[in-house]
Amino acid sequence: MPELPEVETFKRFIDRYALGRAVQEVQVLHPKILEGVTQAALIAAVQGNCFTRTVRRGKHLFIGLAPAGGKTNVKALPWLYLHFGMTGYLSYTEQGRTMVNAYGDPARTDAHVRVRFAFEDGSHLDFHEQRLFGKAGLVDDPQAYMDAKRLGPDALDVDCKTFLAALKRRKGQIKPVLLDQSLVAGIGNVYADEMLFQCRIHPEKRVADLSQGQLDCLYAQMVAVLQNTVDAEAAREQLPKGYLIHHRGKKGRCPRDKTPLAVQTIGGRTTYFCPACQPE
Ligand SMILES: [Zn+2]
Repeated sequence: MPELPEVETFKRFIDRYALGRAVQEVQVLHPKILEGVTQAALIAAVQGNCFTRTVRRGKHLFIGLAPAGGKTNVKALPWLYLHFGMTGYLSYTEQGRTMVNAYGDPARTDAHVRVRFAFEDGSHLDFHEQRLFGKAGLVDDPQAYMDAKRLGPDALDVDCKTFLAALKRRKGQIKPVLLDQSLVAGIGNVYADEMLFQCRIHPEKRVADLSQGQLDCLYAQMVAVLQNTVDAEAAREQLPKGYLIHHRGKKGRCPRDKTPLAVQTIGGRTTYFCPACQPE
């Protein structure tokens, strides 16, 4: 599932291939991907306009629009909003060559295209989401949208003091607290498990029982794990060998001590951890 590092990779992909370009045609290939907007309204808002800038917080991505040709004195345009759901990713095709980013599989790039943004020269940016949990829509004001969702600060933007103060106000088990997007935005299931593994913290440990050393470690590892993944352009196989992420799944073993990993549903999510390194 795309988490903060994957969505940051999508943002940079748009910045690289689509910013400053006029969208000649919008094709909605599966209307179920639309949220709070009709097909006609999405097309009317985007078609003929330029992608001007991107804003990301957590797993939420917004793309600014402006009239093509630098027209002024026009009503402010809404922002295009993309959420990548379970299996979302982007691809860009130019002169028959397709570039894909995280999760992209060039062999099946056409199968699950939900929205296509075509540019004047025949190139196009495709939004793929096989499972249809992702969303495309329009928002007038990204800040108001994020406030309404009670989204916390971005996990790669928050400073240590703010993060620890917010964390200490929470009750309950650490893993579900880390997944709560109102604490910080962007941590999902996989990277929450990784942070806890790196800090040797049991995922069911109560926040109130964490030592200062463990709290400091959580901040440091949140930044390290997310930034390492952004730096790897979300290619998870390139992450450090000592990461738990390579061992999730059946018969996974701890990369430190080879203990068989425990699998447990915690906070409604499948959680992997090492019962030796992360004692209760
Ligand atoms: Zn271990």
